[in-house]
This record gives sequence, C-alpha cells and structure tokens, in this order.
Amino acid sequence: MADSIQRKGQCLCGKVLLDTKVEKKVGVCHCGMCRAWGGGPMFAVQASERPHFEGGEHINSYDTSDWAERAFCQHCGSHLYYRIKASDEYIVPVGLFRDQSGFELDHQIFIDHKPAYYAFANDTTNMTEAEVFAKYS
Ligand SMILES: [Zn+2]
Ligand SMILES: [Zn+2]
Repeated sequence: MADSIQRKGQCLCGKVLLDTKVEKKVGVCHCGMCRAWGGGPMFAVQASERPHFEGGEHINSYDTSDWAERAFCQHCGSHLYYRIKASDEYIVPVGLFRDQSGFELDHQIFIDHKPAYYAFANDTTNMTEAEVFAKYS
C-alpha cells in the first residue's frame, strides 16, 4: 500500500528493536495523558500491521484506560506504542524510527487540549476531543 512504509527502529538503549509497516501520515496528540507521558505532545504513526518486536521481554505496559494501554522499554523508558485493545491497533511514536524520511505531519487531535504556549505552523487537519470521539466511536 502506497500510504504505508516499512520502518525499523529501536528504543534509546537498544534492548527493544522494532520492524513494522506504518502509515506515512503522522498525527500529533495534544491530550493531557500524552503530554504527561512524554512531556509534550505525542508524534505518532499508526502501524499498518501488528509490529514485530525483538527484545519483548524488556517491554512493559500500563493500562491507561479500559480500552487502551501504553508500552515502554523497562530499561530506558522509551515509549514504544499506544495500543487500542479491542481493535489491536498500534500507534507508534514516530521518533523511534531510524529513517525519518517519507513521513508527513497530517493531523492534530485533541487540539482543544493544546496548551497556549506552543502551536505548530504545519498545515494539518485538526480535531477537537468531541470530533475525535465522534469519528472513532
Ligand atoms: Zn530501552
Ligand atoms: Zn493523547
């Protein structure tokens, strides 16, 4: 599929490696959970398949809601994915991938939760919390 690209990546310490096909379109999430998790908005891409991980014994995950979990390397703390459990969808931080070419900033979600002290100049599709829940539920 032309909208997807194969990318390899790893956590900061290198104990967890991943290899997966992901969408080219990068989304930014401004929600309070993403900002608490990473210290800023999350830049991520949807995996087009279940990602292949090596070093899975180093992956820990945390249920952030009834429907989703967030995973990280338990050695270095790098964030590895956000997973929607019911659909088994993986959303992967784009910064994990070694090759950053081919990606484009496409949309920003929870734009109504974005703090006033930053704003991205990219021309993106922006959705509020209400619009996100209307689209995906
Ligand atoms: Zn690590
Ligand atoms: Zn979020």
